[in-house]
Amino acid sequence: MEPLLEELLLKGAAGLGVRLAKNKVTLFSRYLEILLEWNKKFNLTAITGPEEIIVKHFLDSVSLLPYLEKKSNIKLLDVGTGAGFPGVPLKLAGPGINVVLLDSLSKRVKFLNHLIAELGITGISAIHGRAEDFGHKDGYRECFDVVVSRAVAGLPVLAELCIPFARTGGIIVAFKGPKASQEIEESASALKILGGMVARQVEIKLPGVEDRRTLVFIEKKQPTPEKYPRKAGIPEKRPLK
Ligand code: SAM
Repeated sequence: MEPLLEELLLKGAAGLGVRLAKNKVTLFSRYLEILLEWNKKFNLTAITGPEEIIVKHFLDSVSLLPYLEKKSNIKLLDVGTGAGFPGVPLKLAGPGINVVLLDSLSKRVKFLNHLIAELGITGISAIHGRAEDFGHKDGYRECFDVVVSRAVAGLPVLAELCIPFARTGGIIVAFKGPKASQEIEESASALKILGGMVARQVEIKLPGVEDRRTLVFIEKKQPTPEKYPRKAGIPEKRPLK
């Protein structure tokens, strides 16, 4: 990675409260290269400039780390991970995290498997499938300490896709934009039905980005009723009200 990009990553992460060791910078650098290379053939991300990828994908993703209460042996699931955001940067920057990446598009999962092999990292895997299906499977349902998701759906829908995966006492973190409060209001019934409760909102300022980002933390207070998530496509077609 060019020295200026490296500085952007290191200083940007430090500004968010995340210290990156030299070997981690090398891994992020390789991630950037592989992403740019694959993005020429497959539509993985609409953001194509290296600087923007560092800020809007890498830094945005790792911004959660300082707010995780439990720091090691975390089981984290990223629902609708796409090209690995926020799950892969969280894995690279947070050593004690075991990450499962889930996406319904097979070409993205192919990319993620290639990326994981190229980076030579362990404690991370990529799965092809829909949240509505995996949310009912043993080994996934009610199993994760932390469930994260960015840019997949509005909060009422996202709640149904994510909450079933969290263990009772675990958390769901939705990476949102400036309209988070409105989405939270709209998801009041969904959260109640699914056993979640908004615990806090944290505003994040990324370097050089005007709009604030918001991390919405949802605590799982009780087990999710067996019938949720509903069949594939239904949460989006008929959000819980
Ligand atoms: N989270 C990534 C990010 O922030 O860059 C990707 C966001 S992309 C706009 C949404 C991703 O969610 C796509 O890769 C899509 O295939 C995946 N997705 C949408 N609905 C899904 C579902 N029900 N189950 C699993 N993946 C889903």
